[in-house]
Amino acid sequence: MAPAAGPPRISVRRPSSWLPAIRAQWTSSLRFRTTFITVAATALAIAVACVWTALAIHNELFSARKDQVLDQAQLAVSAAQDVLDTAEVASNAATLQQVLVEAREQGLDQQSGTSYIAYFRIDDAPSAIAPPDSTFQLENRDTVLSEGLRDRVRGSADNQYQWWQSVPLVFDGADRAVPGIVVGQLLDVQNAGAYEVYLAYSFEEADQTLRFVQGTLWVTGIVLVVIVAAISWVVLRTVAQPLIEASQTSARFAAGDLDARLPVRGKDELATLGRSFNAMADSIESQITELAELSQVQQRFVSDVSHELRTPLTTIRLASEMLNDRRDDFDESTARAAELLHTQVARFEQLLTDLLEISRYDAGSVQLELEPTNLAQLAEDVADSMRQVAAQHGSELRVVAPGGYSPVDVDPRRVRRVLRNLVGNAIEHGEARPIVLTVDSDARAVAIGVRDYGLGMTREQTERVFDRFWRADPSRKRTLGGTGLGLAIALGDAKLHGGTLAVWSEPGAGSHFVLTVPRAPGAVVERSPIPVEPHEPATEAFGLTQPIRTDDEREGA
Ligand code: ADP
Repeated sequence: MAPAAGPPRISVRRPSSWLPAIRAQWTSSLRFRTTFITVAATALAIAVACVWTALAIHNELFSARKDQVLDQAQLAVSAAQDVLDTAEVASNAATLQQVLVEAREQGLDQQSGTSYIAYFRIDDAPSAIAPPDSTFQLENRDTVLSEGLRDRVRGSADNQYQWWQSVPLVFDGADRAVPGIVVGQLLDVQNAGAYEVYLAYSFEEADQTLRFVQGTLWVTGIVLVVIVAAISWVVLRTVAQPLIEASQTSARFAAGDLDARLPVRGKDELATLGRSFNAMADSIESQITELAELSQVQQRFVSDVSHELRTPLTTIRLASEMLNDRRDDFDESTARAAELLHTQVARFEQLLTDLLEISRYDAGSVQLELEPTNLAQLAEDVADSMRQVAAQHGSELRVVAPGGYSPVDVDPRRVRRVLRNLVGNAIEHGEARPIVLTVDSDARAVAIGVRDYGLGMTREQTERVFDRFWRADPSRKRTLGGTGLGLAIALGDAKLHGGTLAVWSEPGAGSHFVLTVPRAPGAVVERSPIPVEPHEPATEAFGLTQPIRTDDEREGA
């Protein structure tokens, strides 16, 4: 069964939903803003002009009509007065009535231009001959004459005084009032005393004219506003379109599309803008290409030199190993020289390996070999392999792994290298204090932190720690033979995994390096399961001389 049709629902967009849309348009669209201001200003100007014109026409129409009816009334009353004054003195009612009818017909009716005439005798004293009062033939005859008007008319010295008042007139049979005025004057009737004479005039014609003019003005005004809006929209389109194109093109260029150029048409200012933009883009593109080529040449040079050096260096290493093996046969100073040669050749080899790796990063030719890896296990392995070196430096290596056991797709060779470097640095700068490796994970990422409580670094040093060949203090005694490229390579490895390598360090409080890799290859790490800033102030937790307990760290992690 079809559902019963309900009453039609009318939905109205509430202002709260379109106001933000308008605000967004206002801030984002130059065209909308300019058109809006133009239309608003034009509408205001046209409204002021229309109102002013309507008022002026109103005044002109009504004052002209008013002067006309006042003249007519004056003419009519004077004519009636003439008739009355020139008639023979009437002493009985019938004759006087006759004179009055004559005065009315010849004066008021013929001259006044209106048939709405009323007259009232002023004198209250009864008179047998005075003609009776006559009132308006209007629906609203009782309200047409105000007491104020009548008082003034009665108080007039003679029939040269005219009093008038604006009143709504409701003609017999009409259902609405029309604007009009009523004019009052004195008329002197012989033997009967003064009469108040009132003539009512309709202003409907003037009113209709005014309405028509006002209607025309408003229609013209609205049409004008619409035309101005359309013109400004179209004109702005021709101006704004190239600007929009320019902003889009420069955004594309800024995003790395060096081929982005503006179309140039004509010779106007916009064409000049386009030409200048294109010239700038050409120059930037050629400089970037030049720099890229230069950098490629440099990369190739480093890579070639490293390669070329490898072969002779292998020979030198073999020779130095041979000499070192036989150093017991040499005298003391030669034996020392053989030993030195051996260690320095080993460092040289390490440097060459690091340089080659860096040049591979620069060339973008590094490929990850992903395999599911238990990172907690990997951290344990690295700690085990370095425990002896750490012990030689007086540091104890501890692993705290609340998470990180489930396999994650990483390149284990690279992660191991990063960890070895971080732990090596921690041992080197750890001041014989314990070193803690923390492994933890969350739904999105796995992190390994390497915390030492040694020398630490200042803020400026921490900012430069990943720079190539940078060392906090080049004169520091080196025992593990770092090349100054270790952290640069570690950062490259972290980025290659879509991960991060963050550092916190404070002089005297030690350092904390945190490597974070995403669980899913290709995902981006937003936050690490291990905060880089340690929870406990190192000096308090560690007391600087007290060995820390692994359990404390576990709680803190
Ligand atoms: P290398 O260790 O070969 O000098 P790295 O890139 O690994 O090069 O480190 C660069 C520099 O950062 C080091 O020379 C050292 O001054 C500083 N550094 C690295 N790790 C630490 C740490 N745990 N504590 C103090 N300083 C460190």
